[in-house]
Amino acid sequence: MGLEDLEIALDLEKEFGIRFDNQDWRGVVTVGDLFDRTQCLVKQRIVDGVICSVGIACKKCQYVLKGLACKGECPECGELYVIEREIDDHVIQEKVIEIVADVCCVKKTMVRLQSRLIEDLNVG
Ligand SMILES: [Zn+2]
Repeated sequence: MGLEDLEIALDLEKEFGIRFDNQDWRGVVTVGDLFDRTQCLVKQRIVDGVICSVGIACKKCQYVLKGLACKGECPECGELYVIEREIDDHVIQEKVIEIVADVCCVKKTMVRLQSRLIEDLNVG
């Protein structure tokens, strides 16, 4: 993972409350691969109404909400939170493209799902 990869990963993590590990990043060649991987991690964030990602934290005090229900009160500060179970694929795709374009300093219209991160967008 290069610096720009890392920046893209961090931005996506922050946006969606997910965590990439090196294995998730393996085999990611195109923007479409990155979208697939992000979509997959988003689906795993909440299982049976329970938060399963360490990337989801209380917005007020940053307490990690893993293991708690997707709706409730932060045990640390009492802030009410609601974590959306599903995020529309469209929203995820749009955000992935936006973040890649931002990190690569190109226009959003230059970034397509079939764009290769290294060869076409000079990531890494
Ligand atoms: Zn809190």
